[in-house]
Amino acid sequence: MRTERFAPSPTGPLHLGHAFSALTAWDHARASGGQFLLRIEDIDQSRARPEWEARILDDLHWLGIDWPEPVLRQSTRLPAYRAALADLWARGLIFACSCNRRDIAAALSAPQEGAEIPMGPDGPIYPGTCRAQGRGPDLPFPPEGVALRLDMARAVGTLRGPLSFDETGEPGQGRVALDPARLLAEVGDVVLARRDMGTSYHLAVVLDDAFQGVTHVTRGRDLFEATQIHVVLQSLLDLPTPVYHHHRLIRDAAGKRLAKRDDARAIAKYRAEGASPADIRAMVGL
Ligand code: GLU
Repeated sequence: MRTERFAPSPTGPLHLGHAFSALTAWDHARASGGQFLLRIEDIDQSRARPEWEARILDDLHWLGIDWPEPVLRQSTRLPAYRAALADLWARGLIFACSCNRRDIAAALSAPQEGAEIPMGPDGPIYPGTCRAQGRGPDLPFPPEGVALRLDMARAVGTLRGPLSFDETGEPGQGRVALDPARLLAEVGDVVLARRDMGTSYHLAVVLDDAFQGVTHVTRGRDLFEATQIHVVLQSLLDLPTPVYHHHRLIRDAAGKRLAKRDDARAIAKYRAEGASPADIRAMVGL
């Protein structure tokens, strides 16, 4: 059965961009007789708030969306994330990293002053400072007080055959092939466990989509580049790759992408002004 999901982070209001994702996933599930699941992405406990979660759920219900209870909360899934990390650690595919942002910026700007810093889906491409030290399986897991990064070169080296995924959304429909050279140069050693969280968005989303049996992932175009990371992780962890649908982004009046905390486009604001769910659909072009 087709299984779609919407996975908000309860760190701010539901805005038009979120509504577009949720309604698109919901419509796809309904049209195919599939199911729609909700997942609360609350791994960042310093920013997640129960009040935001309650308001997001209320806005989604108001839009006419419902889902089976109980919803999955990522904060309850830490043992699963840790088990996957232990597995990758034992296989020597992740390493401990004690760099902070400033260390990374300094390492990247040191060789050629003024040269452009290569950026990946998560920011600057990691310069490899800690790659040669602190790695499993020689050291015990988990190392304390450090982040864990994927060793992309080793990961690419262990992949069996070329990787790809099916895309049905904006960036061009069809089969998207992953390019190992691009993974190294334009993605690099991404963080799989933040020092303060014990996981990262990439690891959690991949494990939870598989755990919930998600067959189709609907989300914004801004996450298209991150999908390469997810497909690599699915391969390393022996998980299925869903079909991806990356949709156009809803922009604000000035043409800028809506920020997470853009209260001006909050569904609550339109509700207070008397808009109907049909008005919201029309605003996002559905
Ligand atoms: N929690 C993520 C967000 O709100 C979800 C991204 C995804 O759908 O994979 O951006």
